[in-house]
Amino acid sequence: MELEIRELAKRYRSIVAVNDFSLNLGPGILGLLGPNGAGKSTLMRMIATVTRPTAGSITLDGTNVLKSPDALRRTLGYLPQDFGVYPHLNAVEFLEYIAALKGLDRRSSRERIERLLEMVNLTYAKHRALGGYSGGMRQRVGIAQALLNDPKLLVVDEPTTGLDPEERVRFRSLLQDLSGDRIIILSTHICSDVETTANDVAIVGGGKLLERGSPASLVNRWGSLENAYLKTVALNKEAA
Ligand code: ADP
Repeated sequence: MELEIRELAKRYRSIVAVNDFSLNLGPGILGLLGPNGAGKSTLMRMIATVTRPTAGSITLDGTNVLKSPDALRRTLGYLPQDFGVYPHLNAVEFLEYIAALKGLDRRSSRERIERLLEMVNLTYAKHRALGGYSGGMRQRVGIAQALLNDPKLLVVDEPTTGLDPEERVRFRSLLQDLSGDRIIILSTHICSDVETTANDVAIVGGGKLLERGSPASLVNRWGSLENAYLKTVALNKEAA
């Protein structure tokens, strides 16, 4: 599986959210690292076919996603940053509802929901209303809904924001368990999220791709991942 992003751009009136962004991706976990406002969510929304680019192209295994989004959508799992839950539904009801929206078969999705709840460690709380869940539990429901269709492309936008340290560690290890033959794109502004989970890093600032490489290669070049992040973002700001 290969995702190819070519010269992608998104403008909102005078704001350039993403600019001339090119990236090729195969299976593995890509950490999109960048400060708030860098353009990470906009990029992810374009990959998830929620937002249309102003310019550029996205192809998945050679298919133009902008012209034919259905193939990507069938194999996409997306956890948006502002993922909201229905507070009065319990986890099973919520996942059944999302499975129905995704057009999944009722019987097989029931089995899958049970398996996913086990995988995200929520079986014990599956009949509790989501309104009473902690931030980490909600994010795990969010990942479960993204995994309902067994996606080969998983896009998770700042999933660790607001999690306490224990929840964050658990969430990272869940993402690692999910890798394998999937393409996982994880955005964050927290270097340690990337350091512990990603095998590939893209540093984003001002809508542009500033650096790309394995965590080890960036550490080699910049001394630490944090340094790579802080320096490239600062240099880009100076240049702007
Ligand atoms: P990040 O996810 O890295 O925090 P975003 O993609 O959310 O960055 O935002 C990039 C830039 O685009 C910001 O300046 C933001 O204000 C702007 N932006 C994002 N979405 C919209 C929108 N729907 N309308 C106008 N401006 C937007």
